[in-house]
Amino acid sequence: MENNTDIKKVARQHLEMEQFFTGGFTIKPKTSSSESQQKADKAVATGELEKIADEVHRCQKCGLGLLRTNAVPGEGNPNTRILFVGEGPGADEDAQGRPFVGRAGQLLDKVINAMGLKRSDVFITNIIKCRPPENRDPRPDEIINCFPYLQRQIEIINPEIIVALGAPATRTLLNTNKPIGQMRGRFHEYYSGIGRPPIKLMATYHTAYLLRNYSQENRKRVWEDMKQVLVELGLPVPEY
Ligand code: URA
Repeated sequence: MENNTDIKKVARQHLEMEQFFTGGFTIKPKTSSSESQQKADKAVATGELEKIADEVHRCQKCGLGLLRTNAVPGEGNPNTRILFVGEGPGADEDAQGRPFVGRAGQLLDKVINAMGLKRSDVFITNIIKCRPPENRDPRPDEIINCFPYLQRQIEIINPEIIVALGAPATRTLLNTNKPIGQMRGRFHEYYSGIGRPPIKLMATYHTAYLLRNYSQENRKRVWEDMKQVLVELGLPVPEY
């Protein structure tokens, strides 16, 4: 009996080491449900997110609908533990219909990779899904019209952590007007609905801000924020 337990223990340790070296350690499943249940959940979430994306592509709730080349609903792993939320599409995103594909997006990819993750491990979206002209700040009426799409995305993805990139995303999600400097670097709570537990939200600088203010200090701040996310999720924290 004892021998049998030992064999099982050794086999489990062996498997864990295998996973460590092949990179399988980065993202643990959200729940302890069976593999087939996880696949079924993922298929349902994918379908629901596609429905929202279809609505976003047809949306004319505000003037931005007439100005866009492409709407940008968001993309990524519907079963992710981490959801990144930015402000709104820029010129590159409008041209391609994908979030964070311009310079700020390339820097976000670097941040995600530095965390030991791949872009396809996470979900990336914005508070507004269409590009404001000349990249102006989204107007309150545009945010109010668009926010329900994000609320539904969050409900479906149900991430363990939301990373809010910059002031507009942080303020919208937390319903506050506080400056980002006061909000970043610690966890807040996002409420996705009555009866649902709050989701932890880490506020950090937007990568576009980081590009404009590329000091060692600011980069370190963002990295410290992302380290807190990794620790909270029980994921390995790479040393740099
Ligand atoms: N900035 C954002 O806030 N979102 C994008 O998708 C790209 C740049």
